[in-house]
Amino acid sequence: MHLPWRRVSSFTCYQCGLCCYHFMVPLKPIEAKILASLGAPLKTIAGKVYIGKEPGTQCPFLFRAGGKELCSLDLMGIKPVACKLWPIYVYERPVHGHAEEAYINYRGSFYVYFDARCPGVKRGKANLRVEETVKEAIDIWLGVRREQRLTHGLLEPVEQKAKGGPRYPLDGPPPEVLKRYLSYRG
Ligand code: SF4
Ligand code: SF4
Repeated sequence: MHLPWRRVSSFTCYQCGLCCYHFMVPLKPIEAKILASLGAPLKTIAGKVYIGKEPGTQCPFLFRAGGKELCSLDLMGIKPVACKLWPIYVYERPVHGHAEEAYINYRGSFYVYFDARCPGVKRGKANLRVEETVKEAIDIWLGVRREQRLTHGLLEPVEQKAKGGPRYPLDGPPPEVLKRYLSYRG
């Protein structure tokens, strides 16, 4: 299930939305504070704050547009770090084994794995793009970077450039999502 990054030949997020259904989303304290200030549903389990959903149910911030599952928090620039990182896991120790293949010396010593449950993760020999993706994930994990490029599923930079237009291929969340979002605010 946890593939050391050197055993991944490519990662492309297809915006299938599977991860937004299956998993609970842990929030950093600042993220929980921002979402709480917006009146978003939150849940506390063993002292840790999560987006208010159950495993196997849709995240309230997920919406469908253009045949893709998209995140309204992303559009608002407040996507949680846990969501930015998935399906990549960054550790300071080789917690899932395969230490040599998981190791990367970048901004320190880290061990990085991909979750093989994500349909966008392809097994094989890692290449430079995968390595750059891993570095971006480490930067996000360390908090020295917010913007997603290679870890993101929206338009590729080259496509963005060709279109010469907005970062997102959308005008914004569809009306029903905005309505749901605004209803959290009471
Ligand atoms: S990260 Fe993987 S599971 Fe999640 S939306 Fe992208 S392709 Fe689907
Ligand atoms: S916050 Fe966004 S990326 Fe995270 S689970 Fe919800 S819809 Fe998906």
